[in-house]
Amino acid sequence: MTKPRAVDVIIVGASLSAAAAAKRLVDAGYETVALERFSLPRTKPCSGIISPRGHRFLIENFGPLPGEVLHEPASCKGVTFYFPGGIELLMEFDGGKTPHLNRTYSDYWAIKRSRATVHDNMRFLSAVDHGSHVDVVAGNGQEEKRYRARYVIGADGPNSKVVSTLYSRYRDRIKWFTVKQHLHEIIDCPLDPEFFHYWFHPGLGYYTWSHLRNGRQIVGEGYEADDDFSARHAKALRYLEERHNVKLGPCITRESSVNNFGLSLINRYVFGTGVMPRMPLPKAWYKAGLAHRAATVAALGEQVGLPGLATAVERFNLMAAQGHDDDFGRGNSMYDRYYGDPAVTPNPNLAPLLKPPFYAVKVIPGDLGTCGGIRADEFARATRPDGSVIDGLYATGNCAGNAFGSYYPGPGATIGQGLTFAYIAAAHAAGKLS
Ligand SMILES: Cc1cc2nc3c(=O)[nH]c(=O)nc-3n(C[C@H](O)[C@H](O)[C@H](O)COP(=O)(O)OP(=O)(O)OC[C@H]3O[C@@H](n4cnc5c(N)ncnc54)[C@H](O)[C@@H]3O)c2cc1C
Repeated sequence: MTKPRAVDVIIVGASLSAAAAAKRLVDAGYETVALERFSLPRTKPCSGIISPRGHRFLIENFGPLPGEVLHEPASCKGVTFYFPGGIELLMEFDGGKTPHLNRTYSDYWAIKRSRATVHDNMRFLSAVDHGSHVDVVAGNGQEEKRYRARYVIGADGPNSKVVSTLYSRYRDRIKWFTVKQHLHEIIDCPLDPEFFHYWFHPGLGYYTWSHLRNGRQIVGEGYEADDDFSARHAKALRYLEERHNVKLGPCITRESSVNNFGLSLINRYVFGTGVMPRMPLPKAWYKAGLAHRAATVAALGEQVGLPGLATAVERFNLMAAQGHDDDFGRGNSMYDRYYGDPAVTPNPNLAPLLKPPFYAVKVIPGDLGTCGGIRADEFARATRPDGSVIDGLYATGNCAGNAFGSYYPGPGATIGQGLTFAYIAAAHAAGKLS
């Protein structure tokens, strides 16, 4: 057996997140090896829209972005959000355009600029923690490499082998989504080519997007892993044609990936885990007395011991009809309305409760958990289920719990948090943060 190579840090993955960590570590004088399962530059399905802060981060750490790491159009002005009721919200990025990254090349460029040693075509296989160091094995079928590292940083994406090494059942425990996009020939497309277009439409899927890339129009959808993408995609194409006069030819290329984020912000999404929009409540909830159902509001009130429920619901429905919540002011602010359901009028935060059966669930305020990945602290240090820190192990990007909880707030949010926490992990490992 070959002697393991001694290094300070192993980073698993060669993404932008990995590059951010690698840069900080190398700057601090740490011998750093990034392992990438594919040969670089590897293909990465991504729209490549980055937040203004993320853009500044890239410039500050890796220098000006060369043309070859960008798609055409080379920049994006902002995002247009569309709602089923016809409302359109155009949001320009604060501080001007941001680059339209070609993730295949931007990630390759950044990891090279980090000056870390990169071992590509080298898949992370296992890690054993010995307290003072971690033994890591990587391989590609023909060759196996062994490393002895002081630290390991997992930046290997949503389906993380680093995480499953520590938590063998993690993959079964989270909800998986598929994210697919097709690049179509353009016959006629009136959507502004300088913007990323995003539909919050329950009828189309959890989220649907479209934008121009290299002369092709992308149309993509996020949906539950076992759903029928072809039917969803055909529906989205029909909708874009009917609603926005977008006429597209055949699909030329397709990209997809599985992810542990996915739900649209709207669609009356009530329960954090397990029950997705429009899914029936589990029978076990009724049996356990957590959920109740009745044909009338009065009967429901009796079941749950709230005799005044029918009067309260009557009053609520009156306020929903008038569009003004005299009790709690729901829907008074733009913030509320943004997160409401625009298909509900006159107030997107007040949908009348009219259609039986009626349901009641006891709601107890609690903490929001992670989106799926390993729980990490403010220094990106991985923690055990009891909250104690696992020394020397950091997690960032989609292999870490999402900083936004169980939501995917929109384009730019995930690359941004990957970069941020990778940088923090590296700074902490280098002793520059405490
Ligand atoms: C279609 C689509 C569009 C998107 N558009 C946007 C957008 O516009 N803006 C945005 O901010 N986000 C977007 N995202 C999300 C974004 O791409 C990811 O959230 C982000 O890339 C996550 O970064 P990461 O570093 O965690 O993982 P990744 O970028 O997935 O990188 C993980 C790396 O680890 C490597 N790897 C995996 N397993 C191993 C292993 N065992 N050994 C060695 N290497 C391994 C992978 O090959 C990969 O290179 C999009 C995603 C999809 C699918």
